[in-house]
Amino acid sequence: MAASLRIEELDAGYGAVRALDGVSLAVASGETVALLGTNGNGKTTLMRCILGLLRPTRGRILATFDGQSVDLVGRAPEEIVDLGIAIVPEGRRLFPRLSVEENLLLGAYRRSARAVLRRNLDFCYDAFPRLQERRSQPVGSMSGGEQQMVALGRAVMCAPKILLVDEPSVGLAPILVARTIEKIGELKERLGLTVLMAEQNFHQAIRIADRGYVLVHGKVAFQGDSPAALGDSELVRKFYLGL
Ligand code: ATP
Repeated sequence: MAASLRIEELDAGYGAVRALDGVSLAVASGETVALLGTNGNGKTTLMRCILGLLRPTRGRILATFDGQSVDLVGRAPEEIVDLGIAIVPEGRRLFPRLSVEENLLLGAYRRSARAVLRRNLDFCYDAFPRLQERRSQPVGSMSGGEQQMVALGRAVMCAPKILLVDEPSVGLAPILVARTIEKIGELKERLGLTVLMAEQNFHQAIRIADRGYVLVHGKVAFQGDSPAALGDSELVRKFYLGL
């Protein structure tokens, strides 16, 4: 199924704080787009708007599934999940006392996902053999890298067509960051997902991204049509990579 996302002139904030200022961006079907920017520049706010957790004050968020477009603004998060959008949130947000399998099953709480629960659970265990070995273990006793795999698996259990990933590298050792990024690339290929990934780790993000946007103070400050274009940009080098 073709699934794409288009954000048009989005403003959003928290009271007097303007966190997004006229943000426009697009993710074509089957693309992996990186949303780059250091802390506090609006990446999480954009993710929250897409998922219906924060209502933008202006703009549109169009999700298109097989040619049918829907404006997500004003829709409830559960409706947005039902349409086929899932998130791997920053900090993973797992239930530490529940087992791996219980956490995974929580991803399939909507009726649309329950229908394909068995197939998706088998897929998760195939993609993450370690999770199958540990399926009865409380998630809180697992390593950060393993927990990130559970968070990815839980999003897969939502049966998404569009996957949002918010800062997957946070709190992970470098080797685990690399593995997590590779896993996201692998899931995207195997499931034919469209991916929008917020990430501060520029070098890791561009390993799997087709294109990227850099957010600075809630605005798109640069748009790179290839990983090389992003790396070459004066703005990215000076302000973002600190070169
Ligand atoms: P991070 O990696 O820290 O999540 P980010 O790029 O995702 O950074 P946001 O979390 O979207 O950035 O924050 C954008 C701006 O909005 C920042 O100035 C932040 O202080 C502010 N902000 C975020 N959440 C809230 C909130 N709940 N209440 C007030 N201001 C907020």
